[in-house]
Amino acid sequence: VEPPPRITARSRAAWVAFAEAQGEKAYRGRQVFQWVVGRGVRDPALMTDLPRGFRESVAAAHDSTAPLARWSSDSASGTEKLLMPLSGGDAVEAVLILEPTRTTACLSSQAGCPVACRFCASGLLGLRRNLDAGEILDQFMELRQRAAGMGRRVSHIVMMGMGEPLLNYPAVVQALGAIHDPEGGGIGARHLTISTVGLEKGVERLLQDRLPYTLAFSLHAPTDELRRSLIPFEGALDIAGLVGAARRYLEVKGREVTFEYVLLHEVNDRPEHARALVARLRGVRATVNLIPYNENPGLPFGRPPPADIDAFAASLRAGGLKVTVRKRKGHRILAACGQLRLQSLPDGEAAVQPPLAGLP
Ligand code: SAH
Repeated sequence: VEPPPRITARSRAAWVAFAEAQGEKAYRGRQVFQWVVGRGVRDPALMTDLPRGFRESVAAAHDSTAPLARWSSDSASGTEKLLMPLSGGDAVEAVLILEPTRTTACLSSQAGCPVACRFCASGLLGLRRNLDAGEILDQFMELRQRAAGMGRRVSHIVMMGMGEPLLNYPAVVQALGAIHDPEGGGIGARHLTISTVGLEKGVERLLQDRLPYTLAFSLHAPTDELRRSLIPFEGALDIAGLVGAARRYLEVKGREVTFEYVLLHEVNDRPEHARALVARLRGVRATVNLIPYNENPGLPFGRPPPADIDAFAASLRAGGLKVTVRKRKGHRILAACGQLRLQSLPDGEAAVQPPLAGLP
């Protein structure tokens, strides 16, 4: 017997359909969505403006338990890391990042990751499975509640936790839709960012669906040869493909993308890399976000010294590029970019790496 779906797993439209199937008016379904996603109330018994019988049907058909969240805090940098168990024995991590002017929730889309960028901890064990929309939304709801306890409202969402979001397109889009929905999470589309290595079909679909979200492309190298050695994933677009997608996003959505560039000492942080990057991105309207590497035990990459980071940024700016440098947060609790990893795997168990389903 299949376990009932989590109460967070239904879209607003699916709640409407559920209500109608129970012989209720459509707006009753919307009310459940508002309780769950808008107000963070999962227990149907507390949904006091619903008829009792309908509350009981909602309860009977759904798992309304909250995830058993575990937290680590790095109060010095304003970072709270969530470890959230999944059915099946795995667990994913998500991070709340507290800054003076914004509160960001960094969410995972997959347990593990099939892309296996050489420098990233998330893909070390391959992909376990895609999360469903409810499991992505659960992370948001847990982080939002944590933030509320600290007198904060989550203002930004970044799909920069574990996983390649475009390999789990329907669940990511459903979860972001609920987070964006004014009756759900109520967060503006420009404050919702999808970070991706760039997959042709996924990017195409984002454009076709005209989704209003912010896009960040993981570029990481000025040449395809170096990029392929760092991101040895068949489906990833080449640099010309990324630049073309950035242009089209600007045309279609009127929005500039961000190119993320992880700075790996002596691998892609030399003056010649900066010069080549300037040459490659000249005339492309975009921002380059430099991410000084967060070291991972066991991986042979180092963070550049501060002087090299500054010199790289200065060189890009001198070449006319717009540059930001990401501040390091949460590394004390292994919560910084690229440090999230699959948890709770029994020791020594090989992770399965199923064939890529791609987009349906
Ligand atoms: N899977 C998504 C999101 C990854 S996290 C993607 O690939 O875009 C966000 C950024 O951090 C990505 O650009 C990713 O390549 C980068 N990153 C990965 N590991 C890192 C590390 N150890 N230090 C700094 N940045 C890292």
